[in-house]
Amino acid sequence: MKTIGLLGGMSWESTETYYRLINEGVKARLGGLHSARLLLYSVDFAEIEALQHRGDWPATAEILSGAALSLEKAGADFLVIGTNTMHKVAPEIEQAIGMPLLHIADATAQVLVKDGISRVGLLGTRFTMEQAFYRSRLEEAGIEVITPDESQRAEVHRVIYEELCQGTINSDSRNAYLDIVASLSEREAQAVILGCTEIGLLIRQSDTRVPLYDTTRIHAEQAVELALSHP
Ligand code: GLU
Repeated sequence: MKTIGLLGGMSWESTETYYRLINEGVKARLGGLHSARLLLYSVDFAEIEALQHRGDWPATAEILSGAALSLEKAGADFLVIGTNTMHKVAPEIEQAIGMPLLHIADATAQVLVKDGISRVGLLGTRFTMEQAFYRSRLEEAGIEVITPDESQRAEVHRVIYEELCQGTINSDSRNAYLDIVASLSEREAQAVILGCTEIGLLIRQSDTRVPLYDTTRIHAEQAVELALSHP
């Protein structure tokens, strides 16, 4: 089994989910007392969030590249960055390390293509919904990406930082998200990507008939797959 290097803490609320899903995945595949070989580097999210909102992405790249390098030096075989948003600096991190990166948008695109989804709604932080770094990877895979309107994007972003990343699960916010999912479906999205690793803490597949693709779950499943693959 390969050793997974998990770069987490963004936020730790979702890193906890990654840790559980990865271990559940290894146990499901190998049985018994098996669990994942995993190294975790968990950053201080307050520092990262302040830099994001200041637009100082080079400083975030430096912090995360250093953390990824520490994981590699400690024996990680590949890197999993437990946040969609910080894949904005994935190219810089990849440059700094020798081990492969399991990119969250590529992992998601692969599942969407397999399921025959060609037009998808994307929920995430403003950075993920509005900038090219994430959606372009989906578009390269032949998937058309639509996002909520301006006021909806503002609400999705606010709930992520003010509630979900701080461990608050609010039923009004759940209803607001479900309305946004429904409006994306009305605009003919065949499915909706939960493109922020905390959204799965708020809404679930059982809340809606619109197919949801939870990036945390997809990413964790593919990490397990890669960890157990040969060589
Ligand atoms: N975990 C979130 C994501 O998947 C947001 C936190 C962050 O900005 O990294 O994008």
